[in-house]
Amino acid sequence: MIDILVIGSGIIGLWVAYLASKSGLTTVVCEKTTNFGDGISGRNSGVLHSGIYYPPNSQKAKHCIQGYYKSIDFFESAEIPYLICGKLITTGIDTFSSEDEKLERLKALYENGKANGVDDMGFIEDPGKKYPYVNGKHGIYIERTGVVDVATYLKRLYFLCEQEGVVFLKKREFWDALDTNKMVLKTKGKDEYEEVHTKFVVNAGGLYCDDVVSKFGISGYEIRPNKGEYYRLTKSLPYKTLIYPLPSHSSTALGVHYTFNLADECYAGPNSNWANNKEDYTFQTARIEYYESLKNILSCYSKEDLVEGYVGLRPRLFYKGESVKDFTILNQPSNAIHLLGIESPGLTSSPSIATEVIEMVKGFSD
Ligand SMILES: Cc1cc2nc3c(=O)[nH]c(=O)nc-3n(C[C@H](O)[C@H](O)[C@H](O)COP(=O)(O)OP(=O)(O)OC[C@H]3O[C@@H](n4cnc5c(N)ncnc54)[C@H](O)[C@@H]3O)c2cc1C
Repeated sequence: MIDILVIGSGIIGLWVAYLASKSGLTTVVCEKTTNFGDGISGRNSGVLHSGIYYPPNSQKAKHCIQGYYKSIDFFESAEIPYLICGKLITTGIDTFSSEDEKLERLKALYENGKANGVDDMGFIEDPGKKYPYVNGKHGIYIERTGVVDVATYLKRLYFLCEQEGVVFLKKREFWDALDTNKMVLKTKGKDEYEEVHTKFVVNAGGLYCDDVVSKFGISGYEIRPNKGEYYRLTKSLPYKTLIYPLPSHSSTALGVHYTFNLADECYAGPNSNWANNKEDYTFQTARIEYYESLKNILSCYSKEDLVEGYVGLRPRLFYKGESVKDFTILNQPSNAIHLLGIESPGLTSSPSIATEVIEMVKGFSD
């Protein structure tokens, strides 16, 4: 019998497996595809978030803030390229709200950040003076925000897991829980099944965590995939800072922003639309419509500067039909942990979520 079976090898599953094996637990990861970046983890903005947005005392706030520092310690020790570049949130020039209302929302965001312990931020009047081409009358600048090379991050973590003795079973789909310790895996594309006997199970199935949790006889959880499209920009800004709009009231998405990676490619994105299914990576927003969102925050682009980039899917969680806006860490039955609705800031939060999971696993074993 192994100590722990981790379902899924995205950033969350890899972190759980890495910390489990470092704690001396025999660890097996099953992954239904052949690659660790095929799910949500390989298709995001690669931003290390500060924690300004999330309600105080929420799981998102706690794990984002702790995860930010844990991530940086890990990047330093594992030599993963990253850059702390800071971030500007501007009120922009859209006219959906009055200037007064936008300023009030900006101030509320600032207070929220302070309540979460984000202390390295300040207001900027006319942000375009310091950051050329930025639209809007008011902004907040946050020092504590960065970008990481996600592909290197995933590869390095996978390599370190292997070094620690983690066994990866690729093309193996978690199929069923026969009882609390007997799990069934199915080889992808074949009628071949195998049993894995394990003391503990961690469901890090990303977009499919709802299918997995249902196999444990737990009902009511549903993941609805929400699409975020990125357009590549043919030219970059003359400075390296992320530029974001004020988030809207109605969505947990942060709004179309300007981001870049360490290879100096820059992107506008992501927007937010419901996808048709969990494999729907098609582009659905016309360039002109997208350009209108970008124009809100930046003045230097024309629609010809936007080229289709890539699409990511957010695992939006619903419980009994109601939207759940926070991460859900469900310990049920007592030897299983289900990580549900790990959307943004999941990349930033991953080492902190995994630390909590391993503490729960150790608590179970003691
Ligand atoms: C558009 C977008 C932008 C984002 N930007 C940021 C950002 O800038 N900063 C940030 O902090 N976060 C960001 N996030 C969030 C972050 O990317 C996710 O929270 C994180 O990648 C989730 O990782 P995961 O391991 O849970 O999921 P995944 O990476 O999807 O991994 C789950 C794995 O489980 C496997 N799997 C599923 N079902 C089974 C099964 N039955 N058996 C075996 N394997 C299975 C899948 O194949 C997959 O490989 C963004 C997300 C999106 C969509």
